[in-house]
Amino acid sequence: MRVLFVNPAMERYTRQVGFPLGIMSIATYLQTNGHTVKILDRTIKTTNIKKELEEFKPDIVGVSVFSLKAFTDAEKVTKAAKKFGAKVVWGGIFVSLDTEFTFNNIDIDFISISEGEATWLDLVTTLEAGGDPYAVAGLAYKKDGKVIYTPQREFMDLSLLPPIDFTLIDVDKYLGSMYGCKRTALLYLSKGCFGQCTFCFNKRFHRQCYRVRPVEVFLQEVEYLVKNHNVDCIYVADELFCKNRQEMLDVCKAFKESGLDFKWGVETRVGIFEKDDFRIMKDAGCIWIAFGIETGSPAMMKKIKKNLPFDKIEQTFEDCKAVDLVSLANFIIGFPDETEEEFRETIDMALRIATTQRTFFFYMPGPGSELYDELVASGRYKPPKTFRDYTNIQFFYSPKPNFSKIPSRDLKVVRSYFLWKGFSRKYFSETSRTYDIAKKDIVDVLKQFRGHNLRFAIQLILISAYEFLDIWFYAHFFPSIIKKYNINLDDE
Ligand code: SF4
Repeated sequence: MRVLFVNPAMERYTRQVGFPLGIMSIATYLQTNGHTVKILDRTIKTTNIKKELEEFKPDIVGVSVFSLKAFTDAEKVTKAAKKFGAKVVWGGIFVSLDTEFTFNNIDIDFISISEGEATWLDLVTTLEAGGDPYAVAGLAYKKDGKVIYTPQREFMDLSLLPPIDFTLIDVDKYLGSMYGCKRTALLYLSKGCFGQCTFCFNKRFHRQCYRVRPVEVFLQEVEYLVKNHNVDCIYVADELFCKNRQEMLDVCKAFKESGLDFKWGVETRVGIFEKDDFRIMKDAGCIWIAFGIETGSPAMMKKIKKNLPFDKIEQTFEDCKAVDLVSLANFIIGFPDETEEEFRETIDMALRIATTQRTFFFYMPGPGSELYDELVASGRYKPPKTFRDYTNIQFFYSPKPNFSKIPSRDLKVVRSYFLWKGFSRKYFSETSRTYDIAKKDIVDVLKQFRGHNLRFAIQLILISAYEFLDIWFYAHFFPSIIKKYNINLDDE
């Protein structure tokens, strides 16, 4: 069968985009099993969808709805694909977790729930053989106004997946700068996380299941990228890099023994690794590590079930600093019912830790999480009803809706202040300079202009300018709020 996978363009989105790993993995798997596939990434290049459909003549179109900002284009692609006569299957985290909302807003044949590779192969093979697609496990569809689920599909053994075929995309368009590296690529080594955080979709999407790919397959992909595209750094885009020390030791050993020249960065949890481990990681090429700390309040940590060992947080950042690893600390502010006292504890924690970059994200209720269910059940949150409503939510800029007991302005000013100060910082590496972080952000925005039309470029410039001015304004014009929380980053 002929399958066209589409990554829809995102509206008002200024961040650098990475490889669409989900559809790349599914497309590679189908291709290995004898099907003809193509990937159209509209976040990279806007093309005429009607013409693309007529040229490729797909039997099925798979639309990856990775971002809430992608609904408008996903809708456009879907309508064109339906008109062309292809079956349309949507996939992605959000649409897997809120199937009702999705089917209420768009006429599609199926949603592929959660992990897609095995479901897609089963679906395509069944359709080709003239079988019953409604019996394929791992799907949702709408019948007589009701959403019907086929049986849940077990997660597959990741060792059955072949190395990703990078010839399916224009690799060079995705490579970005990151902490001294110029050509960073996104890959994954594992899927899922065993955490139970109440604000995160993971518990339902990955069912608390953590699986690792064979490191040899990962390294085959790295080798291809290093040799053919001069990639110098890999962003290991896992929810959790290595669940324990032994796993990390094995991975680092394999990285070193591969003889490949590449740096890498990961996201992990506080409490798994210590100073000696960070040294081993650094020795194997690691240059940065991101940690989700979320809160500095022990009470809130308990409420959100993140369960980090509080006594190890500060030490972890000291350890990273001691071995000259760039460390990133991510916090969430404005959790439901969060008090000013708890907010202060988070700020104090952010000020105490010896991290390179602290980032505050506003809490936003996301389908599939425990907190979202509670807010909806109690009537405190009325989820958007249409794609447009979701696209209009400006969750990067404002804590709207604000479920906490902290004034929205305080949340916004504190976040902006830390962001502004972060722009001008130097990271620990000897080669870094001040404003490297700001420069990276500007380059990321400029890169997005390639492949798009003038209207898109102008829109992006205006949005970026708005974002920049918004942060600058809130960081500079509310000194009383900065004083209220005892923040002073002038010496950094
Ligand atoms: S927030 Fe991080 S640690 Fe918690 S469940 Fe999600 S991925 Fe796991």
